[in-house]
Amino acid sequence: MKRDLMEILCCPVCKGDLELEVKEEEEEIITGELICQKCNVIYPIKEGIPNLLPLI
Ligand SMILES: [Zn+2]
Repeated sequence: MKRDLMEILCCPVCKGDLELEVKEEEEEIITGELICQKCNVIYPIKEGIPNLLPLI
């Protein structure tokens, strides 16, 4: 995913801002995590694709 995507991404649960933690980055972010501090939930980014499905 591109870093620009952070501007439009929000937590699907609370609609709050997500914190980005990059583990692997080339031209785009390959692996990382999107963290919602409010919900205390981590959404993984794998192979460049953010998975925003809330973990139940
Ligand atoms: Zn949230």
